[in-house]
Amino acid sequence: MASYNYKEKHVLVTGGGSGIGKAISQGFAQNGAFVHILDITSNHYEDTVQEIRAAGGIAKGYVCDVSKQDQVLEVINTIAASNSIDILINNAGIAHVGNIEKTTEADMDRLYEVNVKGVYNCIYATIPHLKVNGGVVLNMASIASSVGIADRFAYSMTKGAVLTMTYSIAKDYLKDKIRCCSISPARVHTPFVDNFISKNYAGQEEEMFEKLSKSQPIGRMGLPSEVAALALFLCSDEASFITGTDFPIDGGFIRLNN
Ligand code: NAD
Repeated sequence: MASYNYKEKHVLVTGGGSGIGKAISQGFAQNGAFVHILDITSNHYEDTVQEIRAAGGIAKGYVCDVSKQDQVLEVINTIAASNSIDILINNAGIAHVGNIEKTTEADMDRLYEVNVKGVYNCIYATIPHLKVNGGVVLNMASIASSVGIADRFAYSMTKGAVLTMTYSIAKDYLKDKIRCCSISPARVHTPFVDNFISKNYAGQEEEMFEKLSKSQPIGRMGLPSEVAALALFLCSDEASFITGTDFPIDGGFIRLNN
């Protein structure tokens, strides 16, 4: 992986204990950053924090449900009281499988609370601190933000909102030297994918894994480390001319699937 200078940079990674967020947290720590992982319970971040420290990196975990504004404000203001905040990675997200007929009001609210309001809460709490020296907000969108994915009604709704929040933040905070971009992965092999296969396709796990792998024209799922490599570039000074843009990382899903 390419190397960057993130020494003395403080990076907040939501959902940084698992999957893509874990790879991003590890990547920033390997490049010298102080990584602050916000996750739903300490069980979710403890292993990642320990692994980063064992490898010589700097990381700290915080229990924080991103859907709860009071928790988010408390955690982020506490971090900001003794550190600058340079980069926010809005990565925490949850999945739902189903078309609109299989999406209950409770499903709709739950997906909105984490995937949309969670992103709003974290940006809302971080912006005043980023405004001090400028910085970067990087949001984890999805191919579902811009193309239809069958049976993902509520999830697609939330990821569309992540994309448009990205454009809005980029425009409003250009003058404050805050860049804002999003990454739109196709299927990446993480616990998120394994969990929804086992929950929704019990007994057909292997077939489903194969099918989801082949939905990328390149013939496989992405790796968390591949998404992390893009995140490290986008937040770096080398990417200082890039803002208000979404970056698909999709094995050809969006452009080559016709
Ligand atoms: P994952 O389930 O492995 O990790 C998600 C992390 O978010 C977990 O650590 C979880 O505890 C945390 N989290 C969930 N709800 C939270 C909350 N309310 N507050 C704080 N933390 C919370 O998922 P992943 O596959 O690594 O996905 C990460 C992001 O990438 C998500 O936003 C997802 O929508 C997006 N994404 C994933 C894929 C994929 O195929 N894996 C594809 C496109 C986009």
